[in-house]
Amino acid sequence: MGESAILNGVKHILIDEAQDLSLLQHRIILTMFPKAKYTLLLDTNQAINPEINSVSVEKLSELYNTKKRTISFEVFPPKKRDYPADQAIAQEEFDHTIRVVEELVDLKPSFISVTYGASGGSTDENTCKISSHIESLGGTALAHLTCISSSRDKIADEINALRSNKIENILCLRGDLPRDVNADSKPHDFTHAVDLIKALRPSGFCLGGACYPEGHPESVHLRDDIRHLKEKVDAGLDFLTTQMFFDNNILYSYLAKIRSFGINVPVVAGIMPVINAKQIKRICSLTGTTLPPRFRAIVDRFGEKSLSMASAGIAYATEQIIDLIANGVDNIHIYTMNRPEIARAIMENIGGIIAD
Ligand code: FAD
Repeated sequence: MGESAILNGVKHILIDEAQDLSLLQHRIILTMFPKAKYTLLLDTNQAINPEINSVSVEKLSELYNTKKRTISFEVFPPKKRDYPADQAIAQEEFDHTIRVVEELVDLKPSFISVTYGASGGSTDENTCKISSHIESLGGTALAHLTCISSSRDKIADEINALRSNKIENILCLRGDLPRDVNADSKPHDFTHAVDLIKALRPSGFCLGGACYPEGHPESVHLRDDIRHLKEKVDAGLDFLTTQMFFDNNILYSYLAKIRSFGINVPVVAGIMPVINAKQIKRICSLTGTTLPPRFRAIVDRFGEKSLSMASAGIAYATEQIIDLIANGVDNIHIYTMNRPEIARAIMENIGGIIAD
């Protein structure tokens, strides 16, 4: 552990990249100093220029090289509807998503990411169409791409579509097989995200990947998950985006850990403003995300009241973002759940910080 200092009554522990603290050591520090903040020496450079970068760039790697603060959003496309009778509904849902995207672009985020086949749904074509619309509005798009259910030919088609729509950024993911799909019946071209990254690296796209501050649910030990993360980064990732987390100390501890493994690409902190208690309980049980007691109390108290939950969820996410920025984590990704009014409220709350 490096130096430590007490600022504003909070113990700040400085950690340099070479140090490899075990999870146990982190737990001991947090037990001794429950309010300890890990100030990551590696991340202090990012705080030098605090302006948000909303200028449209083609590749996100160029944006991260500027070391400017970034605030980005995530949207999900509507599910594809297979029955001809449902096509009018499908069009309505698509048009609604386009309106969501237009409102989000108005907020001038650094970029907008568009999910792909999340939860096994087939939304694939819409990911490219919506990403393309973001670019046509002068924004920058990050198209997600999952590989677990895809053949090499299917991935090649996706890449061609993204390239012809001038999309430069791809979040490379394994994805999850839908529960009702037999693993033997799917193509076996890609097993893990690293296989997709290796296949895409020569293509010249800017590539991101996912990481999990609390460990991926399939990994028994966080250390193994980080070892696999290192393989992904070494295969050619330009940046990482985290799974949502509700306790910033978990992220600070994770950042120290992955830096000590030699993972030095920018890490974008994924923040989920919770406005629906049922939904968050389901997501947490699927992803293994911890609800800290302070936040659990909010969900338990306000979960049944949509207005109260929305106010409290926005306030909690705002506080998380301010704490992250205060601690040198300058790349923030907001899971908007296609609710531009939530993104707008958070942007207004942190407006002074962005403008400073
Ligand atoms: P991987 O990196 O392949 O890891 C999956 C598991 O396998 C981990 O436990 C890892 O430790 C292990 N592993 C990795 N490599 C190896 C190896 N070589 N040998 C053995 N084990 C290995 N899902 C969607 O369907 N659509 C989306 O748009 C989407 N967007 C997401 C965005 C973010 C920021 C995040 C965090 C997740 C997103 N997901 C999305 C969910 C994601 O697809 C799932 O979490 C999935 O279970 C894992 O994907 P991955 O790319 O992290 O997989």
